[in-house]
Amino acid sequence: MSFRSRLLLFFMIIVIVPMIAVALVLFSITADSETGKADAQIAQGLRAALAIYDSDRGAARAELARIVRDRQLATALARGDRAAVTARARTLQRKVPGTLRIEVYDTSRRPIASAGSADAVAISVAAPSSGGRRLGYVAVSSTTGTAYVDEVSRVTGLQARVARGDRIAGSTIADGAGEPLRSGDVTIERHDYRGRVASVGEPVGPATRVGVFEDRSKLASSISHRRILIAVILGAFLLLALLSSIVVVRALQRQVATFLDAARRLARGDFSRPVPIEGGDEFAQLGREFNNMSGQLAVKIEEVQRKRGELEETIRRVGEAFAAGLDRQEMVNIAVRTAVEACQADVGRALPLDIRRMKSARVGDGSPELQAALEAAERRAFEIHLEDSDSWLAMLEAGSEDVDGDSGEPTMARERRPVRVTQDSYHAMAVPLMARLAVGRAVEQVGVVSIAREGRDFDEGEYDLFAYLAGQAAVSIENVDLHETVRRQALTDELTGLYNLRHFHDTLDAELERQRRFGTEVGLVMLDIDDFKRINDTYGHQQGDLVLIEVARALRNLSRDIDEPARYGGEEMAVILPQTDAAGAELLAERMRAAVEALQIDRLDGEGTLGVTASFGVASLPYNAQDKAALIAEADAALYRAKRAGKNRVARAEPVTAES
Ligand code: GH3
Ligand code: MG
Ligand code: MG
Repeated sequence: MSFRSRLLLFFMIIVIVPMIAVALVLFSITADSETGKADAQIAQGLRAALAIYDSDRGAARAELARIVRDRQLATALARGDRAAVTARARTLQRKVPGTLRIEVYDTSRRPIASAGSADAVAISVAAPSSGGRRLGYVAVSSTTGTAYVDEVSRVTGLQARVARGDRIAGSTIADGAGEPLRSGDVTIERHDYRGRVASVGEPVGPATRVGVFEDRSKLASSISHRRILIAVILGAFLLLALLSSIVVVRALQRQVATFLDAARRLARGDFSRPVPIEGGDEFAQLGREFNNMSGQLAVKIEEVQRKRGELEETIRRVGEAFAAGLDRQEMVNIAVRTAVEACQADVGRALPLDIRRMKSARVGDGSPELQAALEAAERRAFEIHLEDSDSWLAMLEAGSEDVDGDSGEPTMARERRPVRVTQDSYHAMAVPLMARLAVGRAVEQVGVVSIAREGRDFDEGEYDLFAYLAGQAAVSIENVDLHETVRRQALTDELTGLYNLRHFHDTLDAELERQRRFGTEVGLVMLDIDDFKRINDTYGHQQGDLVLIEVARALRNLSRDIDEPARYGGEEMAVILPQTDAAGAELLAERMRAAVEALQIDRLDGEGTLGVTASFGVASLPYNAQDKAALIAEADAALYRAKRAGKNRVARAEPVTAES
């Protein structure tokens, strides 16, 4: 059931129920008042009927006086001669004009004789006397019952009936003669009347009863007329109430529909249009609250979206960190950027303790005040650190070169809580970056990360997040260092720092693959230190090792970035020269030879220096060989030729002979 129909039903109930009650009351009052009015009319009619009766009685007095004076009647009465009285009464009734009936009674009021119409009413009575003695009573009527009731009916507008004794003398109700005469609601000839009857005492003879009646159908129709009028008025009221309730319900429904519409818009995420507000009623208040709510919702959603954007940015950054793989500096950059954005700072930076380990990174350019807050926080971070360990003070004073310092320094906790600094409305946090930079070494400070902003201080959540990010950055740096160490160890020769044999083969494989694909050339230089056995024998194995280190350094110094010098084995070394033809390789080999020859290596016994020479074999692909094995073999063969030719020289491989 809709809101509208419920509201309408409610209106109907509060309007219709009282109206029905009012209608019932009014209907009953109408019936009562109409009946009362009818009764009053009947009572008045009855009074009129009685007055007419009196006047009719009076109308017979003249005739009565004449008849009472009649001698013959008096004589017959005095004699007590019934027959004579009867005869004389008949004569007189005929002879005296206007006389409709004559009745004669004895002194005990017993009837003696009567003459004329039995339906006559309104008798006038007198007592004739003779010589002072009463002879009896004479009653005369000059009115018929029919004439009487006609007159009453004419005057009152009601039906009239009159009876003498049990006999109905006159009635305006047709065929009603047989019905008894009584007051109240009566049915005569299947017709309903309401009436009132009065008894008129007569000096002689039976009493006369006079009644007036109203047709009940007239009463009923007047009641129903009234009721129709009331019903019409109530109906009009009902219609008015209905119309106004429809108007009110429509208005309410329109308001509700507006809210519903707005709520649906909100559900769709459309915050652009507020609910229109008119006036200051509860609906307007509701609307204001609604707009308020939707405004707050919009702000919250915006905030959630912003947070989501930040989260996405952070995820992207973490992805970048993955992609950056094992670039330590990029890790530091990401840590600073993430800390600034996640904590909504204005500026942030990372300062290294040792610029060889990491470079500084910064995000945002703050005002001088922000900068000052940042620096204050950084200083405090360092100070707190220094309280922990005197060795750090020494280290700082010694400068950042001392990173390879003693491993006997006290172990410091990795966990560092950030310090907070507030200067006026500038807030800063700084946290030391703590990391273990080599296996077996203690956790040490590698730098400090700091962020600052103007206005709001950092809350606990931001503080924890900052500490966490700095910790993670430190772990990343540590991992990068560890990885680099392991990688270096896996690829390089421990003594000379040159690439090892395995890396030499891997590099050569990769270069040959590239040569196959892009057709570039690859040069290979192989060298063997001359008479190395003798150095070992003369100065000792350690001196031999130093010679190897120095020769390797000379090779590295002459190599380009893309060249890959390796220790091939013993005192034999090889340099892979990408994108280098045979001539180029030979040129480089000659320069290396000269560099080795120029070396003056300290003697471990302190007795001056010693010099060495080396022999070189040069080959290139595809000029001297078609595959790896052949390239190495050709370079080796050339080296062998150089040795045989007298050492300290460069020999070149033979060009590939056509299909040997
Ligand atoms: P040639 O001029 O013909 O090359 O003479 P050579 O003495 O250099 O000849 P040979 O290849 O026979 O000698 C190589 C010596 O190098 C043998 C070995 O004891 C020594 N050797 C190999 N590896 C090392 C090392 O790592 N350190 C030291 N000190 N000596 C090494
Ligand atoms: Mg050798
Ligand atoms: Mg040798």
